Amino acid sequence: MAFKNNKNRRAEEFLKIIPIGGLKEIGKNMTLLEYNGQIIIVDCGLSFPEDEMLGIDIVIPDFDYLIQNSEKIKGLIVTHGHEDHIGAIPYLLKELSVELYGTKLSLGLVSNKLKEHKLSCIANVIEAGQKFSIGDFEIEAVRATHSIADAVSYYIKTPAATVFHTGDFKIDFTPIDGDPMDLSRLADIGRKGVDIMLADSTNALRPGFTKSEQLVGETLDGIIREAESRIIIATFSSNVHRVQKIVELAVKYGRKVTVSGRSMENVVRLASELGYLNIPEGAYVDLKKAKNIPDKELVIITTGSQGEPMAALSRMANDEHRNVKLKKGDMVIFSSTPVPGNEKTVSGVVNTLYEKGVKVIYHDIADIHVSGHACQEELKIMHSLIKPKMFMPVHGEYRHLVKHSQIAEELGMKNENIFFLSNGDQLSVNKRGAKKFANVAKADDILVDGLGVGDVGNAVLKERKQLSEAGLMVIAVGFDPGTGYIFHGPEIITKGFVYVKENEKLLSETRDKALEIIEKTLMTNPRADVNAVSNALREQLRSFIFLKTKRSPIIIPVFIDYE
Ligand SMILES: [Zn+2]
Ligand SMILES: [Zn+2]
Repeated sequence: MAFKNNKNRRAEEFLKIIPIGGLKEIGKNMTLLEYNGQIIIVDCGLSFPEDEMLGIDIVIPDFDYLIQNSEKIKGLIVTHGHEDHIGAIPYLLKELSVELYGTKLSLGLVSNKLKEHKLSCIANVIEAGQKFSIGDFEIEAVRATHSIADAVSYYIKTPAATVFHTGDFKIDFTPIDGDPMDLSRLADIGRKGVDIMLADSTNALRPGFTKSEQLVGETLDGIIREAESRIIIATFSSNVHRVQKIVELAVKYGRKVTVSGRSMENVVRLASELGYLNIPEGAYVDLKKAKNIPDKELVIITTGSQGEPMAALSRMANDEHRNVKLKKGDMVIFSSTPVPGNEKTVSGVVNTLYEKGVKVIYHDIADIHVSGHACQEELKIMHSLIKPKMFMPVHGEYRHLVKHSQIAEELGMKNENIFFLSNGDQLSVNKRGAKKFANVAKADDILVDGLGVGDVGNAVLKERKQLSEAGLMVIAVGFDPGTGYIFHGPEIITKGFVYVKENEKLLSETRDKALEIIEKTLMTNPRADVNAVSNALREQLRSFIFLKTKRSPIIIPVFIDYE
């Protein structure tokens, strides 16, 4: 739907849609909607670093465009409380003050984070079904089902165009809280007219329907009923429904429940306070007191379902957990599937558990986890109800976005009405069509390492990679620049390069080579200073060592002063 040329028409009004993160990647979802000089932000999430991002804790979206246009920002609306949608909010609030809107549980999870960062902000709690406005944006939150309670989609109206943003969803007809997706409202919205839909593409490659959360409950019921030992169940702390189901089953089979892991404790406390989790009187025991409970009367719900090395389950597997010592006969259930990229760490933990004689149940063995995202048939239902004029696939890697576009085409949408954007592009939309502009906003991966935000760039990562691959070599030497007299060294110190004891010959050859380089440099250039010697050492030793070992450690000459 390209714009028609009509020079006589007054300046067109547009709604600009600018994705900053979440396209061609799973993670750090953030989309900006800009109309009439006003911006609202949909979600502000983080992603976890790729393997080559050594030492990086998390990755957050690029806030450059928002900082440049800070006076336009009117608010941030949150679809749900998962990290890839709320995880970067503290970092945004450190740069800008933004008012938040979201459901009770989503904002509760945000406020937990803000407390950790010692931040505060204005947060407006909204409910599914509620209509509200922010500046010129008229917004309606619509109940969505997902793997966390209290998720919503947003129907957003501006005079230029209307948008439906699904957020993360699956169509679960039997969710644990009995609050299914509001399909009739979606149909109403479709009838009112949606110019463009932005929809979750995570499971676009999977045919059929995602199974209901209820199925997990049935499988777990069977397992807990039959179990005669202590049960440890690892799951995502944010999956409050799953936690609720486990609590109910524990009670049903006469067991008490306890939780382990900081995020599990936090979420269970918050969700109980807000009324999303109901733990019957007397069913809960403190983890410290759980050892007094007979094994077959206890269920421990824990973090660490992704094999995270610092999480409670990994600590249990490695005998490093203060309150839980695993023993032969215990049963550990992974009620989750590994997020892509975590398969190795998960199977590492599974193997360690097997070695202990623990009975392990994981996704390969039973239906103990279902996805929170819509498969192909559910996506078709969403498209058919919303009937958007135009479509932009979001929340997915490249292959997911492509497949989702194909699904839209199969349903009869014209290819020219499907817009395939990259992070940082802008789509200008109005009732008659849309036009894409590439690279309008900066949308880099901003790396967070400890307290540093964005200070670790490619140069630092390259050095970390080199260090991790070939280690470090320090050449300590002292010479008198006046006379060229070498009074110390050269001394070779290595870290992560070779095992010193078995490589004394190599190291003594390297020492001789270093001495030769220093002497030659000082002889050919009597005015050679520390810099000249340093450069000569670095360059010539690098090729010497590479020739001998095929390795390139980082070489650092260190000069000792003459006293
Ligand atoms: Zn989600
Ligand atoms: Zn998500």
